Amino acid sequence: MGVVKKEKIYEGKAKILYATENPEYLIQYFKDDATAFDATKRGTIQGKGICNNRISAQLFQLLEEKGISTHFIKSLSEREMLVKKVEIIPVEVTIRNIVAGGMSKLLDLEEGIILDAPVLEYHYKNDKLHDPLVNEYHILALKIASLEELDAIKKISFMINQILKDFFAKKNLELVDFKLEFGRYKNKLVLADEISPDTCRLWDKETKQKLDKDRFRRDLGNVEAAYQEVLKRVLS
Ligand code: 5GP
Repeated sequence: MGVVKKEKIYEGKAKILYATENPEYLIQYFKDDATAFDATKRGTIQGKGICNNRISAQLFQLLEEKGISTHFIKSLSEREMLVKKVEIIPVEVTIRNIVAGGMSKLLDLEEGIILDAPVLEYHYKNDKLHDPLVNEYHILALKIASLEELDAIKKISFMINQILKDFFAKKNLELVDFKLEFGRYKNKLVLADEISPDTCRLWDKETKQKLDKDRFRRDLGNVEAAYQEVLKRVLS
C-alpha cells in the first residue's frame, strides 16, 4: 500500500519532514536549499536534494546490512524517503579522519593532516548558541543523553566511520570527516538525519579535489557537478 503524505511537521535548512498515515513514520523530503556559516550564507544547489536522497538511502542501506540501526525504511521518490519518527538527541556527533574545517580553525592546524586515530567531537545542536563544542560531562549535566546512550553513540559512530571509510575508499574517495545525528525510537538508539556531501567532507583520493559542501561554503565552483559525481561513485 502507498504511503499517504500528510501535514508538514518540521522544516529545516535542507529537509522537510511530513507526517504520514502511520504515526510511527515520517516522510523526509530533501530540498535544494543550501546554507553555511550559521545560515548567513544561503543559496540553491540545483539537484542537490535528489543526490542527497539517493546517496543517503544507499549509505543507510549499507549500514543496515552491517547491523547498524537507522531511521531509514525505504525510498519513496526522487526526493523523499520514509523514515521512523524518532526523538532527535540534540547533539551533532562529528568524526574526523583528516584535519579540515572546524578542527583546522580551532587548533590552527593545516588542512589535510592525517590523524593517527579518528577524533570524535560533540556539538550541542542549538542555533542561538551556534552549535557549541561540548564534552560528555556537559551532555550528562544538561541531561541531553544518558551515559549508556553516550557509550552506544561512541561505539556506533566509530563503527560507522570504519564502514564508510572502507566503502568510500573503494570509490576512490577519502572520508575526511562527517557529522551524525542520533534519535530514540521505541527506546532504542537509531542513526537519523542524512549522510551526504552536505554532512561529509569527501576528497578525491588522487587529486584531493573537494567533492562536498565545501565547494559551496568556499565558492569553489562546480558545486552541482561535485554532488553528481559523489552520487555516480556511490552507485557504481
Ligand atoms: P566542521 O566542524 O569542520 O565545520 O564540520 C565537520 C563535518 O561535519 C563536515 O563534514 C561538515 O559538513 C559536518 N557538519 C558539521 N556541522 C554541520 C551542520 O550543522 N550541518 C551540516 N550539514 N553539516 C555539518
